[in-house]
Amino acid sequence: MSTAKGNPPSPDPAAVEEMARDATAWCAMHGLVVGDRAEQRSGTVPGVGLVHAPISLLPARLPESFWSQACELAPIFNELVDRVSLDGDFLQDSLSKTRQVDDFTSRLLEIHRKMMDINKEENIRLGLHRSDYMLDSETNSLLQIEMNTISVSFPGLCSLVTKLHRVLINQYGNLLCLDSKRIPENVASQQFAEALSRAWDEFNVDSAVVMMIVQPEERNMYDQYWIVKYLKESHGVTTIRKTLSEVEAESQVLPDGTLVVDGRTVAVVYFRAGYTPNDYPSEAEWSARLLMEQSSAVKCPSISYHLVGTKKIQQELAKPNVLERFLENKEEIAKLRQCFAGLWSLDDEEIVKSAIETPDLFVLKPQREGGGNNIYGLDVRETLIRLQKEGGDALSAYILMQRIFPKASLANLVRGGVSHEALTISELGIYGAYLRNKDKVVMNDQCGYLMRTKVSSSDEGGVAAGFAVLDSLYLT
Ligand code: ADP
Ligand code: MG
Ligand code: MG
Repeated sequence: MSTAKGNPPSPDPAAVEEMARDATAWCAMHGLVVGDRAEQRSGTVPGVGLVHAPISLLPARLPESFWSQACELAPIFNELVDRVSLDGDFLQDSLSKTRQVDDFTSRLLEIHRKMMDINKEENIRLGLHRSDYMLDSETNSLLQIEMNTISVSFPGLCSLVTKLHRVLINQYGNLLCLDSKRIPENVASQQFAEALSRAWDEFNVDSAVVMMIVQPEERNMYDQYWIVKYLKESHGVTTIRKTLSEVEAESQVLPDGTLVVDGRTVAVVYFRAGYTPNDYPSEAEWSARLLMEQSSAVKCPSISYHLVGTKKIQQELAKPNVLERFLENKEEIAKLRQCFAGLWSLDDEEIVKSAIETPDLFVLKPQREGGGNNIYGLDVRETLIRLQKEGGDALSAYILMQRIFPKASLANLVRGGVSHEALTISELGIYGAYLRNKDKVVMNDQCGYLMRTKVSSSDEGGVAAGFAVLDSLYLT
């Protein structure tokens, strides 16, 4: 029968079926689960209506050199985010045209401006990031898709997919001609919990808690609960979960800056919501965001870190001589630049013209997160022509990016207990944790990885958005 993602022979359909059963049973028994859309309460009541997470049956293959390259980039990107975050004028100026046409970015910038006006200093700075890459088949190079600085998902579940794939390969190894040791270790959830606990240590108030900001309905809550678990069990730190509207109703900032929510002092605010306009349905949520920013709690991310993760800033950083403003080490700068794909602002008339002529070579991106927002193919042409007609600054809401074409390979994707084989492409995410207290860098680490695999005909990539499945990687 067919091959599993490239090389070795994949087992016959009966064996695939058996493996898929073993895999989904393992998921249920080890917490590799998400809320089931079919059960109405699955996004609000833990332990109700669970289904195994969408997964790939076997890991995606990746040459070891690209893996090393991606890992090596993590601490450099962590440092870069921190440096850029300190340049408030750069953030404000780079996003000044975007704010005219994008209300969400404008609200974030308004909070950022207020913090600049009062000279707000964030001495303890915690970043939990994920830099995403695809392997471009034309150039055989690893290119960055984007840098995420807020609410990065799947540190909990990705560690489990790695474990699952090792178990399956150990069990069916002879059949598959695979060696489980070729799957790199992945303990992202423990490392994120450690970073949060060390930020809590730096804050240095024994009775304080970590506050996780969550959406009112969250089917990916078990991914979050893995971090809650490690914070408590490995570090003795308590986590409370609050929505932005609960924060607005239950919190105050004391004169010394202490953030108190529902009677508890908050050491670290860990955002797993707040990255999309949908999370701010009323003024209450914006006022909660501002209040937290004004407090002395460690924000993960701070408003500055959040803005550094916008697609507009990614594009500005890719311009000539901009990285040099923030980093000194020439080798590190070269390493970053090597993974930058083509990125353009829509001020550039030439590139807009090219994108209208050959839209398949570009992706048009607004300033949004969470998947499902980008524009591809003929829609790029249509949208650009429409925006040009609208005139004014309408184009400034977007950036253009070179489209990356990864090589497709066959894989078995398992969803809702059903396995099907498809031509797929994969996206590698490398987690990073950065913690700093004034001049002391407490942590600057690569923290495991997320592999996401999707059918090659799908443009978008989000797992939660329903496009991709969780995967791990197999070094070749
Ligand atoms: P988001 O912040 O919403 O995740 P991304 O920039 O990561 O936005 O884009 C979402 C998905 O679209 C990615 O996971 C990837 O699958 C696809 N994508 C984004 N940029 C490119 C690109 N330049 N080439 C090919 N696919 C892309
Ligand atoms: Mg993304
Ligand atoms: Mg993103």
